[in-house]
Amino acid sequence: MSGDDPTATAAPVAIVGAGPAGLAAAALLADHGVRPLLIDEAPRPGGQILRQPPRETTVERWLPGPLYRAPKAALRAVEDRADIAWLGGATVLGIDPPDPLAGRDGFELWVDTGARGHRLIAAERVLLATGAYELPVAFPGWTLPGVMGAGALQTVLKSQQILPGNRLVFAGSHPLQLVVADQALDAGAEVALVAFSQSRPAVLAAAARSLRHLGRHWPKVWTPARILARLAARGVAVRFNTVVAEAHGSHSVTAATLAGLDRAGGRAPDMTADRRARVACDTLALCYGFLAGTELARATGAAWTWDLDAGGWLVAHDGAFRSSVPGLYAAGEATGVDGADAALAKGRLAARAILADRGWATSDSTDAARRRDARALARALAFARDLRRFARPPHRALDRITGADTLVCRCEAITRAGVEAGRQPPLALADMNAVKRATRVGMGACQGRLCGAILARLARPGTGGGQPPRPFTARMPVKPASIAAVAALAEHADAADDDRGDQTDDG
Ligand SMILES: Cc1cc2nc3c(=O)[nH]c(=O)nc-3n(C[C@H](O)[C@H](O)[C@H](O)COP(=O)(O)OP(=O)(O)OC[C@H]3O[C@@H](n4cnc5c(N)ncnc54)[C@H](O)[C@@H]3O)c2cc1C
Repeated sequence: MSGDDPTATAAPVAIVGAGPAGLAAAALLADHGVRPLLIDEAPRPGGQILRQPPRETTVERWLPGPLYRAPKAALRAVEDRADIAWLGGATVLGIDPPDPLAGRDGFELWVDTGARGHRLIAAERVLLATGAYELPVAFPGWTLPGVMGAGALQTVLKSQQILPGNRLVFAGSHPLQLVVADQALDAGAEVALVAFSQSRPAVLAAAARSLRHLGRHWPKVWTPARILARLAARGVAVRFNTVVAEAHGSHSVTAATLAGLDRAGGRAPDMTADRRARVACDTLALCYGFLAGTELARATGAAWTWDLDAGGWLVAHDGAFRSSVPGLYAAGEATGVDGADAALAKGRLAARAILADRGWATSDSTDAARRRDARALARALAFARDLRRFARPPHRALDRITGADTLVCRCEAITRAGVEAGRQPPLALADMNAVKRATRVGMGACQGRLCGAILARLARPGTGGGQPPRPFTARMPVKPASIAAVAALAEHADAADDDRGDQTDDG
C-alpha cells in the first residue's frame, strides 16, 4: 500500500477498518481503478484475526494453520499495492454525513493520528468495516487487572508476542477460547482450566452437526476437535456446564471461582459448594461472544437492527451492504458477527455496491463475480448460523452473576444497584439514554461501549430479546480520545465550515 500517508485529507472512498472486510473491499475497488483510503487505528493492516506484530519484528511461525490462510491471502493481496492509500495508527473518532445546507457534499471523518496530528478527511463515500469487540461480562472482580477477554489476550500474543500471565483460566461459550488456549500453551503458558457453559452432550451434538460443514469449512470443524485432543494430551482440565462467577485478588486476579450451571435447565449458576471451584490463576480470560462495532454508523443516524446473538446492535443494510444513509456502506462484523470468511465476502459485495453507485457499468463477468461472492457469503453464513446457535452465551446465568454491588460501568464506577436504584419506570422498561442521564452510566471514557451491552442485558433479563433496547446515542468521540485531539478536530471543522461559507458567499 502507498506508505502511511500522513497528508491524506481526501479520498473518493474511505474505508474504516483494515480487517478482512476492509481489505477485500480495498482490493476490489483498486482493481476497478478507484484508489481507496484504508484507515485503521492499528499500526498495521489485518484486523482482529491477524493483528500483525510491528514491522521491525520477525516472528517465526506467525499464526500457522489453515484458519488464517484466507485472511493472510487478503492481506497479501493489498500490502504491496501502490493504488491503495493507507493510514495506520489513525482512529476515526467521528463522522459527519453530507449536508447540502451546510455546503458539505461528502462525508467528513474526524481522525486522530496521535502524535502525527489530527485531521479531517473528506470522502465521497465511506465504507465502515469496523469489526467487533468482545462481549463484556460483569461479575464480582471483573475489573481486576488480569481479567480480560480471550481475544484481548490473543491480541497481545499475536501483535506483541507477549503472554500477559503464566497461569491462565478460560471461561466462555465460544470455541475461540480453545484456539487462544492452544496458542497460549504453545507460547509457554500453563492453562489451568478451560470452562464451557455448554453441557458435554451439547458440545458433542454440535460437533456431530458441524460434520455437515466438513467439506467447505473443514479447518473450522477440525480445529476445535484437534485442540480438545491436544488439551487432553497435555493434561489441561476442560469443564462443561460451568460459568465464571467471581475473580479474586486485591491488586490483580489471583484466583477465579467457577460455578456449575443447574442441571435442570442449565440456566442459573449453582453456587453450592460441590458445584463451585476456586482455581488459582494470574489471568482469567473470558470468551462469551462478540459485539458489533457500530458506533460510527449510528453516529451518522444510520438505521440499526438488534440481534444479541449476532452481535447486538448491527448496521441495517439493503442486502448489498448500503446503509440507510446514502453513500455510507457497512461490511464485515459491523453487520453481524459471522466470521472472517463472511467478512471477506461482505467486503467484496460492499465494494461492488460502491462501484455500481459510482456508475461503474456491469457486465456479464462482473455479474457472475457478484453471484460468486453472494454464494461464498451464503456458505459462510450457513456455518456462522450453526456456530452462533452453539456459542450462544448463557444470558440468564450472566444476568445472575452481576451482583447488586458489581460494577456495571467501570469508567464512572456505578454498580448494578446504582443503576437500578430509584428507577421509575423500572430498569426493564427504561430507555437506556434516560438511565444514562439519571446515573452517568455510559458517560465515561469508553462512551458506553462496554456498559451499554451489560445494561441492555440487565434491562431485558435472560435474552436481551423482546423489544430491541435503544442503544446509547453515539457521538464523537466514539473512542477514548485526548481533549487536545477533540479540540484540534473541532477547530479544523470550524475552519472547514468557514471556508464553505466563504465559497457560498463568493458564489
Ligand atoms: C479480539 C478478537 C480476536 C479474534 N481472533 C480470531 C481468531 O483467532 N480466529 C478467527 O477465526 N477469528 C477470530 N476473531 C474473529 C475475526 O476477527 C472476525 O471474524 C473477522 O476478523 C472480522 O473481520 P472484519 O473485517 O469485519 O473486522 P476486524 O477484523 O475486527 O477489523 C476491524 C478493524 O477496524 C478497526 N477499527 C474499528 N473501529 C475503528 C475506528 N473508529 N477507527 C479506526 N479503525 C477502527 C479495528 O482496529 C480493526 O482492525 C477474533 C475477533 C476478535 C474481536
